[in-house]
Amino acid sequence: MSLRKLNLQDLAFAGKRAFVRVDFNVPLKEGVIQDDTRIQAALPTLKFILEAGGAVIAASHLGRPKGQVVDSLRMAPVAERLQQSLPQFTVLQAGDVAGEEAAEAAAKLQPGQLLLLENLRFEAGETKNDPALAQRLASMADIFVQDAFGTCHRAHASTAGVPAILKPAVSGFLLEREIDAFRSALDQPKRPVVGITGGAKVSDKIPVLKNLIEKVDTILVGGGMAYTFLQVQGLSTGNSLVETERLQDAKEILALAEAAGVRFLLPSDHVIADRFAEDAASQTVEGNIPDGWMGLDIGPKTLATYQAAIAEAGTVIWNGPMGVFEMEAFRQGSLGVAQALAASDCVSVVGGGDSVSAIKMSGLADQVSHISTGGGAFLEMLEGKELPGIAALDDYRVVQA
Ligand code: AMP
Repeated sequence: MSLRKLNLQDLAFAGKRAFVRVDFNVPLKEGVIQDDTRIQAALPTLKFILEAGGAVIAASHLGRPKGQVVDSLRMAPVAERLQQSLPQFTVLQAGDVAGEEAAEAAAKLQPGQLLLLENLRFEAGETKNDPALAQRLASMADIFVQDAFGTCHRAHASTAGVPAILKPAVSGFLLEREIDAFRSALDQPKRPVVGITGGAKVSDKIPVLKNLIEKVDTILVGGGMAYTFLQVQGLSTGNSLVETERLQDAKEILALAEAAGVRFLLPSDHVIADRFAEDAASQTVEGNIPDGWMGLDIGPKTLATYQAAIAEAGTVIWNGPMGVFEMEAFRQGSLGVAQALAASDCVSVVGGGDSVSAIKMSGLADQVSHISTGGGAFLEMLEGKELPGIAALDDYRVVQA
């Protein structure tokens, strides 16, 4: 991930057709878009190409139609919103994904026009990375642009197949911001670097922790995943979430952190509840969790320690809430982390659905350096993997005279 990818500014779009893979997977209710953040997020890339005199063929998936045409998952509401958002340009809609209709419409496309293809996942070949589908999509355009970070961890026809054929293949603005955020947080960070991990399950986070141990100075652990580690350390965890089949992995992580000289902090106090419910009886305890109780948030002492580590950090990367933040009684840990991030002038990168929800809930989302648009893709980047959708793009090379 160290090389920068070729980007929009490296190319001339005038008179060209660009196939842009966007993420228009918006929440829909009875045909009405509930939140158009993803459409708005794609506009800078689309406008850049259209203003440069190019034409755009935009393609996205929407929901899970599983290779069938599902009328309620057609792109029509998206096309309408796109036209409202780009009044100075013409937005057209194709009747299919990569059939004759789409190919004809693409061939007729004029500079300054945008053609939105039908839902990519109406084609069974999309998720199978079918070469014939990739070929049909690629043949519509002259340039490939990837701007759907949230699907870059999938090797699908539109993310891996098309850019393997259609060159140049470049990153759009949204994807470039995601890649840059990772580079500034993990490749050339301002030290000390603090990684914060939380969320329900330790099993989901083991590869993330292994990668973070190699890159960061301090790791702060919260959420349900902390209790597996605490059990390894010999503490009583009551009814807290513990993955007994992961105790060995947790032990290994603790040993790796120690060998690497990484400060690995676990909660020392807890907000505990007698059941998993908003109106459960709750109290704060230090150390052991009594029988019949479960830890649902980090306690105030732990929060203060974590906030102090964040205050000293040059860079913070955060994935996973510190507790069951969906319930008011168990969200102080996650909100407190969000407040510390907002108050710090560190480079801060937040990703994964639930930590993003927690920071939005705190009302401080605009005070962190970068909020990722990717869930699974963010996690895989944190694991140190090269995502297929990014690997497929052309590397930037300095051309020497
Ligand atoms: P993840 O998808 O792994 O990031 O997990 C996010 C979920 O973890 C959220 O829905 C939280 O409610 C949940 N969570 C966080 N802390 C705990 C905890 N101590 N016990 C149970 N679930 C938790």
